[in-house]
Amino acid sequence: MPDKFETLLREAAKRPEVIGMGGGLPSPRQFPRRALVQALAEAVFQSSPAALQYAWPEGADDLRARIAEHMASRGAAVDPGRILVTSGAQQALMVAAQLLCPRGSRMLTDPETYPGALELFRARGIDLIPFPEGDFAAADACAAYVMPAVGNPRGVAMGGEARRRLLASGVAILEDDAYGDLRFDGPGPRPLCAEAPDRVFFIGTFSKTLAPGLRVGWLVPPERFQEEATRAKRDADLQANGLGQAIVERYLRAEGFPHRLERLRVFYRRRAKHLASAIRRELPGWRFELPEGGFALWLEPDAPDCRGGELGLLEAAIDEGVSFDPGSSFRPDRSPHPLALRLCYSALDPKDLAEGARRLARAWRRVEHR
Ligand code: PMP
Repeated sequence: MPDKFETLLREAAKRPEVIGMGGGLPSPRQFPRRALVQALAEAVFQSSPAALQYAWPEGADDLRARIAEHMASRGAAVDPGRILVTSGAQQALMVAAQLLCPRGSRMLTDPETYPGALELFRARGIDLIPFPEGDFAAADACAAYVMPAVGNPRGVAMGGEARRRLLASGVAILEDDAYGDLRFDGPGPRPLCAEAPDRVFFIGTFSKTLAPGLRVGWLVPPERFQEEATRAKRDADLQANGLGQAIVERYLRAEGFPHRLERLRVFYRRRAKHLASAIRRELPGWRFELPEGGFALWLEPDAPDCRGGELGLLEAAIDEGVSFDPGSSFRPDRSPHPLALRLCYSALDPKDLAEGARRLARAWRRVEHR
């Protein structure tokens, strides 16, 4: 994200009166605080508290076994020994990119995608290129970065045809499943790694389903990259947060994770519907697709530009008391055209969603071309 946007959003985040519709945060109402504290206490007061000790870079075996069980429930049979516990999905992305894509290579990405991945790829000197219409081989890409189950920012799954073409292409795949457990209609589709384990790097996380502060995610690299991936992980930070791993493992063991996911799906689906109706009411000409999962929707105003462009709209919005994620940060070429934005429904109560949409509509009236 350009500096001026980040400065504006950081400043806005400090003002409690500004309704923050950006950021992609899980709902604070959904943090299982009591269960997490109990899991922490158990881990710390064990007679030999492994969670407080140094450990192996690949992660705690009991947690890897639970992650394998979870992946099996999605239709991907993975040996626990193949799972590398990482500091969030972000580190898994970093390790995969490091292994597959040297400086100057080319990564295939969607026209709008997760900014944290785009920034990471750019910083590593990787060129970002769109999916080709025709022959994948001609694109000469080191890998493709995709979110097959639930995309960010649109909250929808990859289409069946795109999925088939990608699998048939033979290209290496970074499968980011950060929101894959939060499809509103039930467990996400079978991961691509189950179809092409020899060239898919599967990336998962507990940030969206438990708490991002735990910093626990995971990577399943293809078998032939296992050692190299473990070394890269170790070189980065020795191991993922041991306390975070122990808390997650105990939570998964005690609480019945599938039931939690059911509750989260109902909760976030309701929030998505609230935001959708607020937008239809306040900004009737604006276009969006109803999300199938995740935390956010992608919104296109009824005009491709406005006075002051994207920055003008964000400034007017913050002035009216609402913030959003600018569309340009999701685009590989950073283009602010056509005007678009991502709005998150995940962390806001219905009345704030309604008021946020109202404020956004007021901001739009100030900057729209008439
Ligand atoms: N991938 C996607 C699509 C995301 O939205 C995010 C977080 N915003 C991440 C990866 C990184 O998540 P984590 O907290 O697990 O590092």
